[in-house]
Amino acid sequence: MIDLHCHSTFSDGGDAPTDLVRLAEEAGLHALALTDHDTLDGLEPFLGCQAKSSVRLIPGIELSCRFLGRELHILGLFIDPQNQSLRGHVADLRTRREHRNHAMLRRLQELGHRIGWEDIAREAPSRLVSRAHFARALARCGSVNSANEAFGRLIGDGCPGHVPFHDLEPSEAVRWIREAGGVAVVAHPGRSAHRGFIWDEAMRDLRDMGLSGLEAKYAEYGAREEAYFIALAAQLDMAPSGGSDYHGSYKPGIQLGRGRGRLEVPDAWLDGLEARRP
Ligand code: AMP
Ligand code: MN
Ligand code: MN
Ligand code: MN
Repeated sequence: MIDLHCHSTFSDGGDAPTDLVRLAEEAGLHALALTDHDTLDGLEPFLGCQAKSSVRLIPGIELSCRFLGRELHILGLFIDPQNQSLRGHVADLRTRREHRNHAMLRRLQELGHRIGWEDIAREAPSRLVSRAHFARALARCGSVNSANEAFGRLIGDGCPGHVPFHDLEPSEAVRWIREAGGVAVVAHPGRSAHRGFIWDEAMRDLRDMGLSGLEAKYAEYGAREEAYFIALAAQLDMAPSGGSDYHGSYKPGIQLGRGRGRLEVPDAWLDGLEARRP
């Protein structure tokens, strides 16, 4: 069993990279990929555990793109964290994220919420601030009763307090990932479109842009959705991938490797993905 999608305190996860490795050992995982949003900084402490761990540790990243007018996430697996061009692009994304965060704070204040930058910064253990941290700060300030409610009515996609900032083209993200020696994978397609969206054609277009894998097992999928994406991957000759998208306390109820209980990503999928390395 393996897990190819999780987050650490270097983005919006609740556990440090070294703790993720320990959790993976306890869960009996054979491989774990760390895929923080818009940062490579967690990969050094993560890969530093390899000498002492039996779990195979895979460097990764998750990038947010725009596709068909919506947010689409792309995972880069097996990337070289030292790749200079990727590091430059990621630094750029971070700056744009910081501008977005300040714009989003202003928008929330304009909407009447009594929240300051210090309330948000307090929730973010690393310097990267995501909406997961905003959600917690909004709950702590009493604007909403829970982080979930913050996403439901304030900062979720399309809500009045949400300021999107990623206009990255999928083909561009694929180029960065491949240049850094990685394999580009469509993250949680089942959660990146409206309910009932038929992915067949859109996925073919993504494949033709160089996405060589798709997340066919995911913590939030039901059995039918999983079967659909496994079949779609086979039909399009894409490698199936799978992961929990574990965020620790930032996404309660999801366990590393196990998701909500029924996730089980087979070891062989890792070989399938590795075979697609450029
Ligand atoms: P950002 O990249 O700053 O726009 O924030 C996106 C992050 O917010 C995602 O990676 C998730 O961790 C979290 N997120 C987005 N939508 C939701 C949601 N509906 N419920 C819970 N967490 C969410
Ligand atoms: Mn996240
Ligand atoms: Mn995602
Ligand atoms: Mn993720």
